[in-house]
Amino acid sequence: MFRKMRRNKQLMSQEDTVNVMDRCTNGVLACLGDDGYPYAVPLSYVYFNDKIYFHSAKAGHKIDAIIENPKVSFAVIDEDTIVSAEYTTYFRSVIAFGQARIVEGDEWQSAFTALVEKYSGDQPQANKQKEIGECSQAYLIAIDIEHITGKEAIEYVRSR
Ligand SMILES: Cc1cc2nc3c(=O)[nH]c(=O)nc-3n(C[C@H](O)[C@H](O)[C@H](O)COP(=O)(O)OP(=O)(O)OC[C@H]3O[C@@H](n4cnc5c(N)ncnc54)[C@H](O)[C@@H]3O)c2cc1C
Repeated sequence: MFRKMRRNKQLMSQEDTVNVMDRCTNGVLACLGDDGYPYAVPLSYVYFNDKIYFHSAKAGHKIDAIIENPKVSFAVIDEDTIVSAEYTTYFRSVIAFGQARIVEGDEWQSAFTALVEKYSGDQPQANKQKEIGECSQAYLIAIDIEHITGKEAIEYVRSR
């Protein structure tokens, strides 16, 4: 049911798409919010074991929306370089679709560790462990990805 990209030349390889997910530090989660309004909310995340993970408070618009309808999408912008003389920007981005769920058990530990390593990998081990312990009060949400594509400006494709 997921659509094909119309400008297929701009479809990135799976490897390049994963590299974007690994190097970027924020994305925008889109879910079905209140009264049928889409809710697009920026988040930090880690791409780990082919899934997207982020932490979330146990109350709020985002978690209410996910529980009500777990189908979500998640967009990450890697590049957005203005090229004024060409009246355009050279861009690179990824969009994933999937189902969100609350993580528990062993998966919580490994995915939360991956999240901490991504953003605070340079911190002392003991501090990271303390942080992981304290964050057990929050939810960790996984997006089981069903469809993911990367797209880049045609100029990047041509320059290869
Ligand atoms: C770069 C970045 C990284 C972030 N990383 C995380 C993360 O990893 N985990 C996390 O839980 N949160 C993160 N946040 C904060 C996140 O965007 C939300 O503010 C937060 O998750 C609360 O969402 P909520 O729906 O529970 O908030 P609620 O307070 O329940 O939302 C109620 C209303 O407040 C408004 N609102 C909420 N968030 C924002 C916002 N960011 N900007 C403007 N208006 C807003 C909206 O109108 C929303 O409908 C990050 C924000 C940014 C910009």
